[in-house]
Amino acid sequence: MSTPSLLILPGDGIGPEVMAEVVKIIDWYGDKRGLNFDVSMDLVGGAAYDKHGVPLADETMAKAHEVDAVLLGAVGGPKYDVLDFSVKPERGLLRLRKELDLFANLRPAQCFDALADFSSLKKDIVAGLDIMIVRELTSGIYFGEPRGIITEGNERVGINTQRYTESEIRRVAIAAFELAMKRSKKLCSMEKANVMESGILWREVVEEVAKDYPEVAVSHMYADNGAMQLVRAPKQFDVIVTDNLFGDILSDCAAMLTGSLGMLPSASLGAPMANGRPRAMYEPVHGSAPDIAGQGKANPIACILSFAMALRYSFDEGAEATRLETAIEKVLADGVRTADLLGEEGATPVTTSEMGDKIIEALNASL
Ligand code: NAD
Repeated sequence: MSTPSLLILPGDGIGPEVMAEVVKIIDWYGDKRGLNFDVSMDLVGGAAYDKHGVPLADETMAKAHEVDAVLLGAVGGPKYDVLDFSVKPERGLLRLRKELDLFANLRPAQCFDALADFSSLKKDIVAGLDIMIVRELTSGIYFGEPRGIITEGNERVGINTQRYTESEIRRVAIAAFELAMKRSKKLCSMEKANVMESGILWREVVEEVAKDYPEVAVSHMYADNGAMQLVRAPKQFDVIVTDNLFGDILSDCAAMLTGSLGMLPSASLGAPMANGRPRAMYEPVHGSAPDIAGQGKANPIACILSFAMALRYSFDEGAEATRLETAIEKVLADGVRTADLLGEEGATPVTTSEMGDKIIEALNASL
């Protein structure tokens, strides 16, 4: 297979700062593991607007279609708040997601032992937590028609429609089962089949897909119970698959089990390309953090963990992804902390760039 290609879009605010640390890691893999990537860089968000007058140039979109995976930093900032909706930085991100048809959003909630005290839950409930929420991203109630606010008689009525086709459910279910096969072969599907027809269909289609994955242990749970179980005993789960609305809420809930926004990666996957790899974009969950941009305070780990997801899910380099995650775990266990993770005694405060260097040191030690 030819050298895998990556399009890097650092974006705005802390985006370029955290992405610079990812680039160090990518270079390390080339130098030390013979794992080379054909990397190109381009602009997105406010940075693209400043140069092209749009938050994503057509040429950049065309490049995104050609590469094996896109890595994105973050977009937005106060400077762009006054722009027309059509050219706001976020539109660049939405265009990428829409045109690449990235229907499966993967949000891991992983709690490194060293950070278990940052969770709002008790340490023993979250220490060692490692779950993955797969959220359907391109359909459901956020897109269904009819929608709008109409007037009936003498009052207004707000309408949104939950609508899922079989094929929309099937493709995200397949993505979740494939993930479960790469993890611990356990999958829980969440819907509200007790009160919603779309939930009944969701459950039926997941059951149909399950027949092709006999090794995966499948369970079903009503999404409201799922929310309770996530905060009661989150370690009972491995992969969770759910629709757009429930996934929006449940993934944010699960994310906070782990502490800081600076630690949360994500992936959005689409259909397989001709080379068998899924269309994919990897990005930290956090935004451009204008309050700390340019000060060396940003935690690059969310962005670096997003690259680890790319290694695992786009490039089938699961062992190298684990190597990177283990290096991060080691650095955290040694008490190395960016500003967002400070608070305990004995911690060593570091800048964004020093955190990247420490992770490289731990990678070197892993050889
Ligand atoms: P934010 O995620 O940028 O920041 C929220 C808080 O978390 C801030 O106090 C920030 O300093 C802190 N934080 C975030 N990432 C951090 C990191 N890596 N290390 C240390 N601290 C970190 O959210 P916001 O302040 O609501 O939004 C700021 C801008 O980012 C807005 O323009 C918003 O539209 C945009 N945004 C972009 C994305 C994206 O690109 N995917 C997501 C959310 C918000």
